[in-house]
Amino acid sequence: MRLADRLGIEHISTGDILRTAVKDKTPLGKKAHEFINSGNLVPDDIMIGIVQERLTEKDCAAGFILDGFPRTIPQAEMLDDIVLLDSVIFFDVSEEECVRRLTTRKICSKCGLIYNPATHPPLREGKCDKCGGDITSRADDLPETVRERLKVYTKSTEPLVKFYKKDGRLLPIDAGVKPDEVFENLVLLVKRQDPATCLRIEDSSVGE
Ligand code: AMP
Repeated sequence: MRLADRLGIEHISTGDILRTAVKDKTPLGKKAHEFINSGNLVPDDIMIGIVQERLTEKDCAAGFILDGFPRTIPQAEMLDDIVLLDSVIFFDVSEEECVRRLTTRKICSKCGLIYNPATHPPLREGKCDKCGGDITSRADDLPETVRERLKVYTKSTEPLVKFYKKDGRLLPIDAGVKPDEVFENLVLLVKRQDPATCLRIEDSSVGE
């Protein structure tokens, strides 16, 4: 979200799209709810339909960041059929650090902005700085669910590193350092490339 704001392009988070659908109890939300809360992936056909539709909207014409998509090889193959991404950012962070960040992070239930009590607390306790919404924990950030999500990542998402490495689109970045440092390094990295399109493929928001 921060990078999209800095570059002035759209931020498309498939996790945010799904969470909104769950909150609004739409047919998509009802289908996705169980998968999300158990730490599993929502089936490819559903995800591909969502992204295909979203990318045809006008606001994507000037560029976009896909956040959390693709997470499987079939999703990546389908994406290549509709748009050729310039760059794929790989946030390189240890599993231990990932668990620590995910199990301590908080999220605004209204606008999705991410907080962490230790590194990025809100100005007013329990309230979002940006929209005033309530800050809560994500249901899938419980320790046991995070461990399940990491297993799913290793099996289904990690193969994408090789997939994008082989044609030179992978941009690895050390995400084990402080979030602000990750962000500034990321801006430099992206600006060295063509910033029209890029995406994040790690399991979840490792930057807080
Ligand atoms: P995120 O906010 O990106 O961590 O996504 C939260 C949850 O939404 C994931 O753990 C999955 O259950 C689901 N999800 C988000 N994006 C995808 C995707 N590309 N493919 C399958 N499931 C997804």
